[in-house]
Amino acid sequence: MTKQTHVFQAEVAQLLHLVTHSLYSNPDIFVRELVSNASDACDKLRFEALNAPELFEDAPELDIRVSFDKEAKTITIADNGIGLTEQEAIDNLGTIAKSGTRDFVSKLSGDQQKDSQLIGQFGVGFYSGYIVAHTIAVESRRAGAAKDQGVRWVSAGTGEFEVEAVTCEKRGTSITLHLRDDAMDYLSHFKLKSVIEKYSDHISLPILMQQEEWDKDKGEYVQMPDWNAVNSASALWTRAKKDISDEQYQDFYKNLSHDQDNPLAWTHNRVEGSTEYTQLLYVPAKARQDLWSRETKAGIKLYVKRVFITDDADTLMPTYLRFVQGVVDSADLPLNVSRELLQESRDMKAIREGNTRRVLSMLEDLANKSASDAPHAESDPAAENDISDVTAKEDGDAPAPKEDVYGQFYAAFGSVLKEGLGEDFANRDKLAKLLRFASNHTDTVSVSFADYKARMKVGQEAIYYITADSQAAAKNSPQLEVFKKKGIEVLLMTDRVDEWGLSFLPEFEGTPLQSVAKGAVDLGALQDEDEKKAAETAAESFKPMLDKLKDVLKDKAKDVRVTTRLVDSPACLVVEDGEYSTQLARMLKQAGQQAPEIKPILEVNAEHPLVKKLEGSPSFNDLAHILFDQALLAEGGLPEDPASYVRRVNTLLV
Ligand code: ADP
Repeated sequence: MTKQTHVFQAEVAQLLHLVTHSLYSNPDIFVRELVSNASDACDKLRFEALNAPELFEDAPELDIRVSFDKEAKTITIADNGIGLTEQEAIDNLGTIAKSGTRDFVSKLSGDQQKDSQLIGQFGVGFYSGYIVAHTIAVESRRAGAAKDQGVRWVSAGTGEFEVEAVTCEKRGTSITLHLRDDAMDYLSHFKLKSVIEKYSDHISLPILMQQEEWDKDKGEYVQMPDWNAVNSASALWTRAKKDISDEQYQDFYKNLSHDQDNPLAWTHNRVEGSTEYTQLLYVPAKARQDLWSRETKAGIKLYVKRVFITDDADTLMPTYLRFVQGVVDSADLPLNVSRELLQESRDMKAIREGNTRRVLSMLEDLANKSASDAPHAESDPAAENDISDVTAKEDGDAPAPKEDVYGQFYAAFGSVLKEGLGEDFANRDKLAKLLRFASNHTDTVSVSFADYKARMKVGQEAIYYITADSQAAAKNSPQLEVFKKKGIEVLLMTDRVDEWGLSFLPEFEGTPLQSVAKGAVDLGALQDEDEKKAAETAAESFKPMLDKLKDVLKDKAKDVRVTTRLVDSPACLVVEDGEYSTQLARMLKQAGQQAPEIKPILEVNAEHPLVKKLEGSPSFNDLAHILFDQALLAEGGLPEDPASYVRRVNTLLV
């Protein structure tokens, strides 16, 4: 049998350097990380054994054993889970697989103090062991492999690790930490037990430790041969709400999500009826880095009667709620349910609907709580038996200002939520209520459609909005001028998904939504009769010039007309109702997608000196092109031929 030496992947080496060279505010976390790996390994075995019960060999009872040896100065964390083959040990313990850990490494600042604080909150899986150990030895045998197919992996956490084949009587993995001199206080039953209670109490397997008893003759504690569970080994979600503290909910979340922050809110319910299940769902405080990809897995773990089945069941939550993390435990699904079955199952569909409803009403509550202290009647289906709906409190500190919570949620996940307008027709009205926007009257993204409606002017018949690339562009857009003048509020939509999302939302509670950059400006009863008259007269007297403009710009503009929507600007571009805006078309093009060629309509302000000068000008053609290109620039677009634009302007300047 030969030993092989391997080098760590560069990122692992970097991580290990940090772990071994830093002082930790919270070294305890290594226990949580290693116990959690052990528990995952048992879950994996249980799942594989559903179809191959022989993997259990003669030891079907799964557990995790934590022991220590004062003489040898070691701690050992052993599980009888799935185990590792030699190749798996090389791959999994030599490279970083988990995206959370990779994110962590990418966040490292090089400032050791800051970085080690980060690690304390984060945990970096297996490598956390090096916080307390100068050397780690792993012995493992894959379930189902022959006894001489075991592997021994050893590393001092510098650049390399050694691997050799060994014989392992028992299936599973045992990890032995050779403690550093400054970590000797972990060689204590009391210490280890209290750390386990703190971080790993919810682990659904028994975590066993050897009893200790006082030996009068020796004058010290000695370990007894029998092993006892030190955790309550009950899956947190199966307990009654009254028995779970906020801190336990938060700790459970952190374990589940590998997030270092507390969640913003959670909801925990036992749902009864034709489909029975328990749901414990969390809204995180911050967006994960991969949130923007619609391919990102939902963060929901599926259990069936407390047996872990999969964390890859995208059918448990709609895509637009992929930021939600949590657990669903079904009482109805068969244990050996296959992926295909999961997709089609009626129970899964019911669970997904129930989850969606729950999350939306939790968000509604958050929004209402943030908006006011007024008690809010929950509109929940009677079948759902509420265990708890909680808004997380900041522990220790004074509670964050109430308005912040929904705002914080919305800043992190608002854009993702909007995808639901196109994805989930059944809940569109609920979703619409959850949306928030800035407006020309409010800079913060805080205006709901309901707020807007409550502030509408007498005679106003539509909810007006504008889409643009940025808040500044939206606010200063020429199309807004008449609305500003008349003091009418316009919602500013600057999110990439806004226009697409709103195309699925023609109205809000009976009031139509109207883009101020689409169609003819129609202020209805808000429009002055005199203004209307003046515009008609202008259109009449401008007709010859409009025709000339149309002719000069025929390749660029679909039409040229006089408008009342402008006050200070000479011209602007609009599109027909129902057409893509020029921004959306531009965005689709940039994203390499097919976008319809959109010829906008050029609207001119008959009152503007530039427009007045146009008539009879010897530079009519150049001015016409400049007018058009400037209108394009004003909304964040680029002239098709920028060099010609510059040349024309320069000619005029000279
Ligand atoms: P992760 O977050 O993926 O658990 P770790 O660095 O903690 O990251 O572990 C890396 C990989 O090593 C795990 O994904 C798993 O495949 C393997 N591993 C770690 N601990 C064990 C164990 N006790 N039993 C079996 N495999 C393990």
